[in-house]
Amino acid sequence: MEERTSLDLAQQSNATGDMDTEAFRRYGHQVVDWMADYLAGVGEYPVLAQTTPGTLRHSLPTHPPTHPEAMETILADFDRQIMPGITHWNSPGFMAYFGITGSGPGILGEMLSGVLNVNAMLWRTSPAATELEQVTLDWLRQMLGLPDSLFGVINDTASSGVLYALAAAREAIPDLCIRQQGMAGRPEVPRLRYYASQEAHSSVEKAGIVLGVGQEGLRKIGVDHEFRMDVAELERAIQEDIAAGWRPFAVVATVGTTSTTSVDPVPQIVDICERYGLWLHVDASYGGSAAVDPAMQWVLAGCERADSIIINPHKWLFTPIDCSVFYTRKPDAVKAAFSLVPEYLRSAESIGEDAPINLMDYGTSLGRRFRSLKLWMVLRYFGQEGLAARIQEHNRLGQLAAEWVDASPDFERLAPTPFSVVCLRAHPQGMDDEAQLQALNERIMNRVNAAGHYFLSHTKLHGKYTIRIAIGNLHTTEQDVCNVREELKAGLAVELEAQK
Ligand code: PLP
Repeated sequence: MEERTSLDLAQQSNATGDMDTEAFRRYGHQVVDWMADYLAGVGEYPVLAQTTPGTLRHSLPTHPPTHPEAMETILADFDRQIMPGITHWNSPGFMAYFGITGSGPGILGEMLSGVLNVNAMLWRTSPAATELEQVTLDWLRQMLGLPDSLFGVINDTASSGVLYALAAAREAIPDLCIRQQGMAGRPEVPRLRYYASQEAHSSVEKAGIVLGVGQEGLRKIGVDHEFRMDVAELERAIQEDIAAGWRPFAVVATVGTTSTTSVDPVPQIVDICERYGLWLHVDASYGGSAAVDPAMQWVLAGCERADSIIINPHKWLFTPIDCSVFYTRKPDAVKAAFSLVPEYLRSAESIGEDAPINLMDYGTSLGRRFRSLKLWMVLRYFGQEGLAARIQEHNRLGQLAAEWVDASPDFERLAPTPFSVVCLRAHPQGMDDEAQLQALNERIMNRVNAAGHYFLSHTKLHGKYTIRIAIGNLHTTEQDVCNVREELKAGLAVELEAQK
């Protein structure tokens, strides 16, 4: 049997079985100390977990615990067993996908929301959570230079948000009553179509699958040489589809695409949407955050006329996962798609003109975490100036990395760099076979990732295997950019040597 410490006895002494207040305080301090040490030393861990599938699973008991266990043992196992399986998204060396940061104020906000444990489904189930969400999103809207006609709610992810936007767009189609009557077995319902560029995120396509529109219901539009949606092709596609009996209902434009961070020409796209009566959703989950820097507000040009827009503070506004902001100028349409109030969720204050909103009315989930608390803390702690300064610095580092690639005879840049993500590959002179180049670049990237200082990920652009350097962590420095450059160059040198 485990030897019990005095703290464990304190843990036992609470008749409810829950942790005693004093034990909570002491373990709480211990955990916060651990967190502070972790944040101070996160750069020392291998960024990409150096583990193999099944390692953690096989190290844990297959049977659930029967008896209470000591908190000290649980925390020790967290360190010993869980930590080696962590990929460190909060590391300055994390440059894969999109670099992100759970900042200090954001983490503290997350801790407080954990202890309050409120469920903000109705105004009355947490008035402060409901109202703080409205105020915080209004502040963020102002920081981004968006108009005050927008209503905002926070969802877990952009993937949920695009589903809600397209559900609202589908419900807004006049005379189809899809919420009520569904789509199957109704000959009077035409096949529905929506549009996004080939570079749009997979969540856009998934939403169509969930909504019964089907993958064929999404028509993917080609892009120009800078990976931006081709608007002439968009309009042609809409006209062709109408002539062929499809019913176009929405367009999804992207501000900051996943692979290259390209920005679709929203002002022209919104013209087309208005001409054909289509809902415009803008997925600005990554790029939208840049607009906190007034010099970057061009990225949201045209969005003031969009029907819905998503910006993810959990991507590039230093807010811990999860926090995805959904703005719409048509909250009633979103509510019309989702609001369903059974008797047990009715409340007196929800009736009447001035009734407060109930967050459950704007999506599929009833329960909601108090996500606005961490965002409120982040916005206040940094202020717009502080946020803008960090975004500027990341963009500066991105440009620096891009300049290095452009100046290097053995590497080439495969896309423009409007923000802080650089798309590149090694392309030594005389090596032009695509399969060979792919194998070479995969090996170089794997070498960098195995070294543990940096974590990079890839994409494919025009069939070319592309390495991405995605800068977005608050603690990434110019030195990191130099180091990752050196690791890529060294990786190439070793690979070329091995081929001799
Ligand atoms: N849209 C874009 C452009 C993305 O890059 C991503 C993820 O990286 C998403 C949507 C999905 O975001 P989430 O993880 O919040 O669903």
